[in-house]
Amino acid sequence: MSTEKVDVLVIGAGPSGTVAASIINQAGFKVKIVEKEKFPRFVIGESLLPKCMEPLEAAGFLPALKTKGYQEKSGAKFVNSEKKVMDFNFSDQFTKGWNWTWQVPRADFDKVLADEVEKMGVPIDYETTVTDIQFEGSNSTTTVKCKDGSEKKIEARFIVDGSGYGRVIPRLLKLDRPSDLPPRKALYTHIVDTRRNDYIEPDRILIAEHQSQVWVWCIPFSNGNTSCGFVGNPPFFEDFKGSLEEQLRSMIASEWSIAERFKDSKFIFEPRVIEGWSISIEKFYGDGYVLTGNVTEFLDPVFSSGVTLAVASSQLAANVVVRQLKGENVDWEKEYTTPMLDGIDVFRTYVMAWYDGSLQKMFFNEERNMDVIRQMCSVLAGYVWDTDNPFVKDHRTSLSRMVRLINVEKKMKDLEESEAGG
Ligand SMILES: Cc1cc2nc3c(=O)[nH]c(=O)nc-3n(C[C@H](O)[C@H](O)[C@H](O)COP(=O)(O)OP(=O)(O)OC[C@H]3O[C@@H](n4cnc5c(N)ncnc54)[C@H](O)[C@@H]3O)c2cc1C
Repeated sequence: MSTEKVDVLVIGAGPSGTVAASIINQAGFKVKIVEKEKFPRFVIGESLLPKCMEPLEAAGFLPALKTKGYQEKSGAKFVNSEKKVMDFNFSDQFTKGWNWTWQVPRADFDKVLADEVEKMGVPIDYETTVTDIQFEGSNSTTTVKCKDGSEKKIEARFIVDGSGYGRVIPRLLKLDRPSDLPPRKALYTHIVDTRRNDYIEPDRILIAEHQSQVWVWCIPFSNGNTSCGFVGNPPFFEDFKGSLEEQLRSMIASEWSIAERFKDSKFIFEPRVIEGWSISIEKFYGDGYVLTGNVTEFLDPVFSSGVTLAVASSQLAANVVVRQLKGENVDWEKEYTTPMLDGIDVFRTYVMAWYDGSLQKMFFNEERNMDVIRQMCSVLAGYVWDTDNPFVKDHRTSLSRMVRLINVEKKMKDLEESEAGG
């Protein structure tokens, strides 16, 4: 069996793997990526957040991405079943930073990142699956199964696990913990969006609250197709019968914001199902390894935070890996786990508030406080580490205080109206 030696082995060529590999490679270390699939491969997660442009820039990926003509994303529109609308524009946000990003078919996007990192000198072994890892202190020997069925060993001084839904190290070391969020399910496809231009702002991402705890994403791409998916608690899906395509078509027909737009439109692939994605983890690092991207905590897709947290965690982790390999003393807990958990917790508050309906009270309230909207907009742009923003620093209390205020104002308004009527 052949053995190869590298400084850093990266598992997975998704955004978290390629961003980490690029940054560590830039520092002069020998890096290699092993990837289970052949690229391009499908993966869900197509709406990015402005904050993710920073890690993509640090990794040197922006020049190549900018040539691809992806759909630019400058905000997000939320609607509810009463046809109320909340439109966020990233140019109007509290935190200074990027005010745009992209909506991307991930098969394409991830291949651009992977090709770029290879051009920078990081080899990627495709169709190569990690099957085992033995740690000896910080050094490790990883066993991989190659595409011809043979096995190979890779010795590394450090491993970055960016294996996403593959969860390689958490599975091998039994680090997974149940999430505090209930299991949810999604049914989705890409649709040929021929009627797009009949609608105002046809290229804007739309998130529609279909009913309590059920929502729809509609993510237009620059290639004329649009990603559309329903997300909700599993019992919601039981009311729909027939093939997955028939089920999704019935769901679309019952949602006012997309029913006409997608009526009889061609589905590019048989709708897919993914469920039970929320997961938590015992620790984010260990002797000789770090977990980045989806391998750490993944909450929920409602705020499109997945890729942003994936690349932000990789950027942070890669910089700590570089310092450790250079012989510096590093504090993984303080420099990596704590800031990542802080950002994840901010998103968690808003995800929970979305599913208990309190966030929508704020989004769809007729009286709008523009300072609050700007602060909220920065959270939705992914700037969840800006502690100057009260909706980040005091995320739990700021939101509940705001909702209480809205409730009181509504009660007073109802009272005034009933007194005026009586
Ligand atoms: C329904 C749904 C909708 C979503 N929508 C969005 C969205 O709009 N925006 C957003 O930002 N995020 C979204 N996400 C989240 C998004 O899918 C992930 O957060 C993102 O893909 C994480 O990137 P990653 O690089 O960590 O992992 P991945 O993109 O999953 O990449 C991991 C790679 O590792 C490889 N791998 C796995 N196991 C092995 C192994 N044993 N050996 C070698 N390689 C391996 C895989 O083949 C894969 O290519 C959504 C998630 C769900 C469930």
